[in-house]
Amino acid sequence: MEATQYVKSIQKRIHEQDQNQTEYLQAVDEFLPTVEVFLKENPQFIESNILDILIEPERIIQFRVPWQDDQGKWQVNRGYRVQYNSAIGPYKGGLRFHPSVNLSVMKFLAFEQIFKNSLTGLPIGGGKGGSDFDPKGKSDGEVMRFCQSFMTELQKHIGPSTDVPAGDIGVGAREIGYLYGTYKRLRNYDAGVLTGKPLGYWGSQERTEATGYGAVYFVKHLLKDSNNSFAGKKVFVSGSGNVSIYAMEKAKELGATVLTCSDSSGFIFDPNGIDVELVKELKEKKRERIAKYVETHKEAVYYEGQSVWNFKEKCDIALPCATQNEINDEQADILVKNGVKIVAEGANMPCTLAAVHVLHAAGVHYCPGKAANAGGVAVSALEMSQNSERLSWSFEKVDGMLDDIMKNIYTTCRDTAKKYGDEGNLVLGANIAGFEKVSQAMLSQGL
Ligand code: GLU
Repeated sequence: MEATQYVKSIQKRIHEQDQNQTEYLQAVDEFLPTVEVFLKENPQFIESNILDILIEPERIIQFRVPWQDDQGKWQVNRGYRVQYNSAIGPYKGGLRFHPSVNLSVMKFLAFEQIFKNSLTGLPIGGGKGGSDFDPKGKSDGEVMRFCQSFMTELQKHIGPSTDVPAGDIGVGAREIGYLYGTYKRLRNYDAGVLTGKPLGYWGSQERTEATGYGAVYFVKHLLKDSNNSFAGKKVFVSGSGNVSIYAMEKAKELGATVLTCSDSSGFIFDPNGIDVELVKELKEKKRERIAKYVETHKEAVYYEGQSVWNFKEKCDIALPCATQNEINDEQADILVKNGVKIVAEGANMPCTLAAVHVLHAAGVHYCPGKAANAGGVAVSALEMSQNSERLSWSFEKVDGMLDDIMKNIYTTCRDTAKKYGDEGNLVLGANIAGFEKVSQAMLSQGL
């Protein structure tokens, strides 16, 4: 079968079988057409039908998570773990606790994770998990009881050499602590089963900062190609979670002015540059809304209920670090009119497919999440290495490795895009490079 026809037949099958899984179909639709050109040149991957096999998750686990609230009432949520592909290593990927979590969201995230993890050059397969539980507004005790119940089931399916979860939206150090405590109680001490652990018990230096710093390092290497840098650039950031905070911190350190950040209630514009320490204080320590920012920073403006991506102000670099589909085509158009030159995804799939088309058509460098935000999972893999050798590396050592990994990911995406005749198309480069390694591993391991 010829490549275009082969890809179309797979796309048709997935659309028929997974009809209402919109986020998952979006991720598949973004991916499939980009590997066509690779399949044309490498027909053995069509003959072996490897893409059709890869597109099927190896295993999907869904379970109920009963827990007791502070009033003594029994509640229930849905838990998931999608173990998508283990060709190059144990399943690896975060856990997301957010009301928007469903099977479609889990499958899209796990699918993206396969190629992201492959691009890091480290031996990790792709997986993702989570629950529609909303930690927002819950007491510490409720979060703990939920995590204990969640792990009581999940522990049956994970282990340091089989599947290693970490954090994602709604799962930070507190949740990882409760999850690990439960795992340890049930299965004994084995720190390598989760990453993103606190430093006190086998966490890695720079894991907290890794996704945000990594996204900025990715852009730094892209800028370097044209003898450019972050110095003097105006940067828009969305979100105010851990990816956003450390992207802002590193961009600022490299000389940029970060003008915005946001949460689900609105966004802040600070013409003097966002005070990252204050955002840390509000979000990490006090668990407050971002609206509080303007109480102490009178020149900043809080735009309640509005998206930063509708904001019309000069912007050189956009770093969407909140969540999926936060930038649509109209908002991409606003960004283009604002003068944006680079859009790098700190979040997973924050740009819709239509938004990506607008950015590409305008000649904007679009850096897909599976490449630009791979720093988090890369340092997770370094945490696994440190856990295996029972040693902790210094911050400087991890940081140097993270910078090298991000440089490598960027040059791989750039060079692969060029090799396959679409110079500058980093999403094509990321998809082909990620896919080639995983499918080659699958082929060599046999059916
Ligand atoms: N949740 C992060 C991601 O989307 C990190 C996953 C991990 O460290 O395993 O890549």
